[in-house]
Amino acid sequence: MKHLQEYRDNRLVQIVIKKISDSVTRKWSIMEICGGQTHSIMKYGLDQLLPTEIELIHGPGCPVCVTSLEMIDKALEIASLPDVIFTSYGDMLRVPGSTKDLFSIRANGGDIRVVYSPLDAIKIAQHNQDKQVVFFAIGFETTAPANAMSILQAKSLGLHNFSALVSHVRVPPAVEFLLSSPYNRIQGFLAAGHVCAVMGYWEYPAIADKYHVPITITGFEPVDILNGILMTIQHLETENNEVSNAYSRVVTKEGNKPAQDMIKKVFLTIDRKWRGIGVIPSSGWGLRPEFDSYNAEMKFSVGSIQSNESSLCIAGRILQGLEKPFNCHAFGSQCTPENPLGATMVSSEGACAAYYRYRN
Ligand code: SF4
Repeated sequence: MKHLQEYRDNRLVQIVIKKISDSVTRKWSIMEICGGQTHSIMKYGLDQLLPTEIELIHGPGCPVCVTSLEMIDKALEIASLPDVIFTSYGDMLRVPGSTKDLFSIRANGGDIRVVYSPLDAIKIAQHNQDKQVVFFAIGFETTAPANAMSILQAKSLGLHNFSALVSHVRVPPAVEFLLSSPYNRIQGFLAAGHVCAVMGYWEYPAIADKYHVPITITGFEPVDILNGILMTIQHLETENNEVSNAYSRVVTKEGNKPAQDMIKKVFLTIDRKWRGIGVIPSSGWGLRPEFDSYNAEMKFSVGSIQSNESSLCIAGRILQGLEKPFNCHAFGSQCTPENPLGATMVSSEGACAAYYRYRN
């Protein structure tokens, strides 16, 4: 547990909290973009340890939560087909589509398998040549390199029964989208350390300059998160729109170049619809045309499916930091992790699930 326990050390937590308290002179609103960070904040009660001047706003960085309803409905359509083995990370099975979820299709005989890596899906395709094997390729920049590699591997193996339903999302365009909203009240950002480990943080200085916000690359353990908040507060208090790295044991400015090259080889930047939010320009990756034969949307002709979000669920407003989960009338009553109405209650990284688990 080295490199973990020291970042959960209560003595260090108290020291950083004291530094934050000594630095803050007025109210500030800071968004932690990543659902993993929201989960840590709730789990360790970090928001309750902070001075009351600091409000943490929970961002849309949960890949399960932001996968659009259309994309879920496309997955459900494909997974219902005979002779299809649909493979997915486990979290996606309970995400509600318009009328059902992947679990209910499995209960009715659909062949839906949980995998831990896209390469598991490749193996399933190799062993089931009489079936079409589809991998649900969701996620942020963190999962994109492995998903890209699976496409290249399928091609090099000459696998014609493998395809991917791609729904990748990118963080920097979402940050710009939130900051340019007329309702924006975010004054500082904690950027997601694991995303920056892949992509670096060279894209952030231009955003920090344009919107006059400090951005701090931040990890996931209590001391990491508090150090990120401390740096952000120090920049806010001195009117310094700097990009700082509070996670330098993992992140470099350039990021992981081989991983970025792999992504570029397979994906191109496209507009992407985010659940509850809508289309954010240039916020997604889709397969390059040379990989059309691995594109499940094309292979199964589901590209035209359109879906409408339920008006009951306010997850979209929560994902933009405009509401807290307990502002939703369904929170903890009609909507629970056992019976989720929206994606933010399904995923362990979702803000509603984090509030339900640690604050209900
Ligand atoms: S509590 Fe449930 S219904 Fe309400 S916003 Fe969260 S996911 Fe949607």
